[in-house]
Amino acid sequence: MAVEIIDRLEAVVGAAHVLRSRASLVSYAVDATVGYRGEPLAAVFPGTAEETASVLQLAREIGVTVVGRGAGTSLSAGAVPPKGSIVISLSRLRRGPYIDREDLTVRAGAGVTTLEVQSAAKAAGLFYPPDPSSQDVTTMGGNAATNAGGPHALKYGVTRQYITSLEVADFSGSVVTYNRGTAGEMMVDLMIGSEGTLGLVTEVHARLVPAPEGYRTVTATFDSAQTAAHATVDLLDTGVIPGKLEFMDDVSIRAVQAARDRGLSLEIGALLLIELHGDRESLSRDGAVTLESLRNSGAENVRDAVSEGEQRRAWEARGAITSSLARLKPGKIGEDICVPRTNLPQAVDRIKKLASERDVLIALFGHIGDGTLHPNVIYEPSSKSETAAARDVLGELARIGIDSGGVLSGEHGLGLVKRDFVPYAWDWDTIRAMRRLKREFDPAGVLNPGIMWPDESERNSDLWDRG
Ligand SMILES: Cc1cc2nc3c(=O)[nH]c(=O)nc-3n(C[C@H](O)[C@H](O)[C@H](O)COP(=O)(O)OP(=O)(O)OC[C@H]3O[C@@H](n4cnc5c(N)ncnc54)[C@H](O)[C@@H]3O)c2cc1C
Repeated sequence: MAVEIIDRLEAVVGAAHVLRSRASLVSYAVDATVGYRGEPLAAVFPGTAEETASVLQLAREIGVTVVGRGAGTSLSAGAVPPKGSIVISLSRLRRGPYIDREDLTVRAGAGVTTLEVQSAAKAAGLFYPPDPSSQDVTTMGGNAATNAGGPHALKYGVTRQYITSLEVADFSGSVVTYNRGTAGEMMVDLMIGSEGTLGLVTEVHARLVPAPEGYRTVTATFDSAQTAAHATVDLLDTGVIPGKLEFMDDVSIRAVQAARDRGLSLEIGALLLIELHGDRESLSRDGAVTLESLRNSGAENVRDAVSEGEQRRAWEARGAITSSLARLKPGKIGEDICVPRTNLPQAVDRIKKLASERDVLIALFGHIGDGTLHPNVIYEPSSKSETAAARDVLGELARIGIDSGGVLSGEHGLGLVKRDFVPYAWDWDTIRAMRRLKREFDPAGVLNPGIMWPDESERNSDLWDRG
């Protein structure tokens, strides 16, 4: 059967575009989520939207599970293929990015990276704001599928606010284009954030905005994460909306310093990194308000980073957190809860207390300005007790997000990681409705069926143990 499936895939995309050996599939068995590993039968690389649709039609016909894949940077185990499944990589769909300066839009194949779109927009004097911190490798298709956010989300919004139309390969073997506007609006919005469970995005059309005229970076240190959270609320209460407002706690600072000396003192309790966007006049006005607000809110050391080098170093430290956490312990599993701004101090306080009560290491960082917090539980995977404690704490972190009036995922998606916690956020009637909706798009139930919406009768803890 397996040989027959692969032969039929090769007939669609060509033998050169199918991987089948165990060694060649190693990197397709995982995404960026530590502790989750699948076991695909093959990985297939369609070269066009039509080939993608044909692969989907074939999967439906033979009843084999398929998992769409962009760059594999998911942090919620959204692209981990179940045993015997086929990975469909969209990485060859690399047409564009084509910028239309008149219409202020961009068109890009699903495999084009976010950075390529941002750079093309910049070269045209324009700006594509969605900026997941993985932007140099992450794909436009993956960003659409997860509704990716990033530091710019506070001022400019997330991927959904930019996508105007999507080309999608579906199970009927068709390629359809959903445009925003009356009837299409709903289809575009259904596809965005559906994590590859309804169809595969083959091309993305998005709008662009004028680039900010200038930037100003301010950093502020605090004695504790709680003080920094209060300072965030105070700053946003002044009416200043920074282009970025990012947060690192003491554990995150320790991790990035352990990876490389970035001149950050280990005495710092928390750090806020702020980037203001605007013209000369607004930068001056907002800068003055920001400095005063931070000082009044208990900041210990406020720096107006004037030199480009200083600004770059500050943002490099923020960008290095995820990759540096392994310096503390090899196991890492994270949430990306998103809570209303006014509840940030309470949520941060509960997370810090949880870490000390349970004696677990939690690194806390995130796009605090828009309420997105990334509490990452750091643990030793070879220790059964630490792994079990990490799993328990992960559930409690999800509850803190919901209790604080927030959502399970601000940007990474539900994937396998948050699937078990979905009942904390929605009642079973709603979950059943979502499962029915999926069946309408994917009647054979073969498109990434294990993620997002739990079934009342099953849990995914076996995957957690497999790591
Ligand atoms: C260091 C690091 C920093 C990160 N920072 C951020 C951040 O700031 N903000 C943020 O939002 N995320 C962030 N992420 C998470 C991740 O980068 C995003 O979720 C990203 O959008 C995933 O894109 P991808 O191309 O890697 O997709 P993948 O990881 O390959 O897939 C993600 C999900 O989308 C589906 N999928 C992929 N491509 C398609 C397609 N063409 N059509 C349909 N479904 C598809 C997959 O099946 C899977 O469910 C970060 C990850 C890392 C490793």
